[in-house]
Amino acid sequence: LIVHLNGEFLPLPAARISPLDRGFVFADGVYEVIPAYGGRLLRLQEHLQRLDNSLSGIRMDNPLPHHAWQEMLMELLRRNGNGDQSVYLQVTRGPAFPREHAFPAHPRPTVFAMCTPIRESDPALREAGVPVISHPDIRWDRCDLKTVSLLPAVLMKQLAKDRGAFETLLIRQGLVLEGAASNVFAVLDGVLTTPPKGPFLLPGITRDLVLELAAEHGFPAQERDIPLERLLSADEVWITSSTRAIVPVTRVDEQSIASGRPGPVFAQFHDWYQARLAALRTG
Ligand code: PMP
Repeated sequence: LIVHLNGEFLPLPAARISPLDRGFVFADGVYEVIPAYGGRLLRLQEHLQRLDNSLSGIRMDNPLPHHAWQEMLMELLRRNGNGDQSVYLQVTRGPAFPREHAFPAHPRPTVFAMCTPIRESDPALREAGVPVISHPDIRWDRCDLKTVSLLPAVLMKQLAKDRGAFETLLIRQGLVLEGAASNVFAVLDGVLTTPPKGPFLLPGITRDLVLELAAEHGFPAQERDIPLERLLSADEVWITSSTRAIVPVTRVDEQSIASGRPGPVFAQFHDWYQARLAALRTG
C-alpha cells in the first residue's frame, strides 16, 4: 500500500505523523472520501469543492490548488494499481507545540491520502435490503462540514452494529436528517424525497448525483423535511454514500418499510447509477 503524506509517496509503514499533530490532539481537520472506478475519480470537482467548504468552515486555507489535488490523487491511484478504489484524504492544522486550543500563528498543515479497494456492491444486500435503527442526533450544529471529529458517528455506527443493523438514522426534533455516514431518501406517494441541505446534514455527493439522475430521467423529486413518523409509512427508504452507492432500507427500528422488500424505484435508480459508473470506467 502506497500512501501520500505531505508531498511524498511512501509505503504505509514509512508514513509518520507527529503525536502533536492537531488532527490527533484536537481532531482539528477535515477529510473527503472519493470513489474511483477504473482509475477514474467520480465527481472529483464536487468533492474538492466540498473540501474547500469544510476547510473554510474551520478557517483553514486549502494547502493545495485543485489541479495539484487531482494530479496527486491520480498518481496515488496509479501507484496502487488503479481499478475500483476509494481515496481517503485528510487535511489537519498540523503539528503544534505547546498544546493550545487556539490556532498556531503559522500552521503547517498535514496532508494525507490513501486508497482502499471498493467492495463490489453486494447483490444479497440489494435483494434483501438492510435494517437500520433511529437515534437522536448527538452531533453538533455544523454537520455540513466533513470534519475528522467523528466520535458521535463512531458511536452511532457501533450502536447499529450492536443491534444487528446496518446504519443509524439521526433524528432532530422528530425529523430524519441523515445516517451516521450516509444521506437518506424516501419515496413518498411516488415522489423521491430527501431532506434539504442545511447545517444538520452533510451535502452528500451521492445525494446530489441521485437528484441529478431523477431530473435527467424526469422522475419526480423534492427536497423536503421527513418526519420519522412519515418515513415509517414510506413506499421505499434508501441510504446513499460514495462507497456504497444506493442501499435499500427494508426495516427501521422494529418496523418494516412497505412490503419489507426493496422497491421498484430503487431498482430503477440502481440501474441508472450503475450506468453512470460504467460510463466513467470506459471514459
Ligand atoms: N452523511 C454523512 C454524515 C457522511 O459521513 C457521508 C459520507 N460517508 C454521507 C452523508 C454521504 O456523503 P457522500 O455521498 O459524499 O459519500
